[in-house]
Amino acid sequence: MSEHYDAIIVGSGAGGGTLARHLAPSGKRILLLERGDWLPREPQNWDAGDVFVENRYISKDTWYDGEDKPFQPQVHYYVGGATKLYGAALYRMREEDFGDLRHHGGLSPAWPISYAEMEPYYCKAEQMYEVHGSRGEDPTEPPASAPYPHPAVSHEPRIAALSDAFAAAGLHPFHAPCGVMLNEANTPYSACVRCSSCDGFPCLVHAKSDAEVLGVRPALEHPNVTLLTNAEAVELRTDATGRQVTEVVVERSGGEGNGAAGNEGAGKSVRETFTADIVVVSCGAANTAKLLLRSVSDAHPKGLANGSDQVGRNYMFHNSQAVLAISKEPNPTVFQKTLGVNDYYFASDAWEYPMGNIQMVGKSVAPMYRGEKPLMTKLAPSFSLQDIAEHAVDFWLSTEDLPQAENRVTLDKDGNVRLAYKASNNTARDRLFEQLRSLLGHLGMHEHHLVPRWAYLENKIPVAGVAHQAGTCRFGSDPASSALDSDCKAHEVDNLYVVDTSFFPSISAVNPALTAMANALRVGDHLLGRL
Ligand SMILES: Cc1cc2nc3c(=O)[nH]c(=O)nc-3n(C[C@H](O)[C@H](O)[C@H](O)COP(=O)(O)OP(=O)(O)OC[C@H]3O[C@@H](n4cnc5c(N)ncnc54)[C@H](O)[C@@H]3O)c2cc1C
Ligand code: SF4
Repeated sequence: MSEHYDAIIVGSGAGGGTLARHLAPSGKRILLLERGDWLPREPQNWDAGDVFVENRYISKDTWYDGEDKPFQPQVHYYVGGATKLYGAALYRMREEDFGDLRHHGGLSPAWPISYAEMEPYYCKAEQMYEVHGSRGEDPTEPPASAPYPHPAVSHEPRIAALSDAFAAAGLHPFHAPCGVMLNEANTPYSACVRCSSCDGFPCLVHAKSDAEVLGVRPALEHPNVTLLTNAEAVELRTDATGRQVTEVVVERSGGEGNGAAGNEGAGKSVRETFTADIVVVSCGAANTAKLLLRSVSDAHPKGLANGSDQVGRNYMFHNSQAVLAISKEPNPTVFQKTLGVNDYYFASDAWEYPMGNIQMVGKSVAPMYRGEKPLMTKLAPSFSLQDIAEHAVDFWLSTEDLPQAENRVTLDKDGNVRLAYKASNNTARDRLFEQLRSLLGHLGMHEHHLVPRWAYLENKIPVAGVAHQAGTCRFGSDPASSALDSDCKAHEVDNLYVVDTSFFPSISAVNPALTAMANALRVGDHLLGRL
């Protein structure tokens, strides 16, 4: 048995890494457990072939879909979690997303807290993650009590022209909120060099606002915080009443053996047990469900905190589409993710239901296409991959998928994740796609699907694209229909909390990370009152 801590945080991503930094100045003894290692800093960080074709930073895990077909989930087990690879589009949810919202596909249920309760924490999260943005441009923007801490990242010329064209078509394009440490007013001192390898890549120069750089590293400056890497929590044990987690069982694999503090078990696999007054789980939506479901005991026969049978259910990950338009003029944009359009986010003149959010995604380059077969077979015969790359304008369309009990994580008999998922709100997704397509002629793009001049491609995100995973442990006021209370404490356990995106009862149509960060700060304030 190892020493006792005030708090153990399991998982160091957007939720866990943020919470660790928030709790660190308290002087309380905090143990941060991370199943992955530090993400190596190496030239391959910025190599599209290594990252997108060879999947260098994707876990080797095998999960199974609803038909029991194996797949390799696009999850990232590193200090900082998925934020190491994320696109750092750091959006607030809209005020209306916190209430019931009627969609074509059904109801997006209300959260047990209001936007007003989350607002101060959004401000703090924007400060901590150095968000760049511009208030007042996006008509759906929720009220904010402070300006963005940094000015918006500027558009490059093709994206500025695109923004003008959206505006000329009567829409309200805005500068997307962005977590890169770019100082355009003083470029010699800018950490970010504005490169083309951001969205989906790790940042070689540590200038992306990720949870390693701005969560874990600042937390570790405090001597009371300990990080163990290559340390996978495999079970949470409780006392006989089932109301207190008493032990966190950890498998330490040793990883690469870099000799860093906390990695001294390199090369060996050992099982250890840690104890703490408070245990916070933040493993990502699927892995949090896995950890709770495998923590079976007499007091919790269906898995820890799962008396309601809600753990693992209501998995969501957005009904997203990565779409690629072909610009008539070349698109030499380096950093493309600077623009958003929310005119179709809610019911509008265009449709009586919400469709979703339009934003840019990292600029595609030729080596990426080799990893995406549909693109190659549709366009390559008549348009070289290089031609496509030079003219591609890449959009990301996010439609809200709705929580459904049967979309769920369960474990097979060997303890592997089984992820059953059927898309919802498909009509809204298709309308958003058609809406953008109908605008292409106004945007300086080729209008039709046909190759070569009229090229336009769509690539729906399959179940393996778990980047925006959420749900599985939703918070709510009714213990019969939620696993967590409004402080993200398990209804059935007095010292167990969850702060990753598992707690989302609905996912909205904006990217989830800032909400996970803000909520970790909110729960962190509650924990500081307890510790
Ligand atoms: C390519 C990509 C692009 C994205 N772009 C954006 C974007 O632009 N904007 C945005 O808002 N979101 C984006 N996301 C999503 C965003 O990164 C996630 O929503 C966010 O990181 C989720 O935070 P989390 O704390 O729930 O989980 P994670 O950040 O995934 O953290 C979970 C951590 O727990 C660790 N872990 C898992 N199981 C265990 C265990 N048993 N024991 C110990 N440790 C464990 C994992 O290794 C990981 O470090 C993107 C994601 C990806 C992959
Ligand atoms: S754009 Fe900036 S933050 Fe993003 S990977 Fe490049 S240097 Fe890093």
